[in-house]
Amino acid sequence: MERKDVTLVGKLGEYDYNRPYVCSECGGIMIFRGVGEYECEDCHYRAYDDYGKARNYIEKNPGATSGEISERTGVSQKAMRQMLRESRLEIASDSKTFMKCGICGVNIRHGTLCEKCAASYHRLAEEQERTKRMLAGYGMDIKERNEGAMRFIKPDQNK
Ligand SMILES: [Zn+2]
Ligand SMILES: [Zn+2]
Repeated sequence: MERKDVTLVGKLGEYDYNRPYVCSECGGIMIFRGVGEYECEDCHYRAYDDYGKARNYIEKNPGATSGEISERTGVSQKAMRQMLRESRLEIASDSKTFMKCGICGVNIRHGTLCEKCAASYHRLAEEQERTKRMLAGYGMDIKERNEGAMRFIKPDQNK
């Protein structure tokens, strides 16, 4: 089970949504055209990855549920959830289905965190970054003072 998850997520945590690499018509190379769409460089046959399939279906069938999309397009529920987590899709505002915020558990319609938690998470990350920079700057300052400030250092020697 765990192994299968690792395979699905793939390298660098990116799930590739079953993107077509090779043309099913002529064996040519599929070129990315944007928003989940691919085109064969030889015969110009067009194909879609899971995101493109789901997106096309939603465009033609507004208000479709993820279960319906999955059933009609063959896109797995897991891929649907992944798209929601990556905010590629959003649960319609009149839907009774929700995702949960990863921190406070409140209902959300896309992504992994609610707006409040995302904002404070972002702030926390910024603060940590600032503290790190300040400490680094402070350390350098002390070092320079200890070495004495009388010497002029040419920029290219200041390494
Ligand atoms: Zn082709
Ligand atoms: Zn939250």
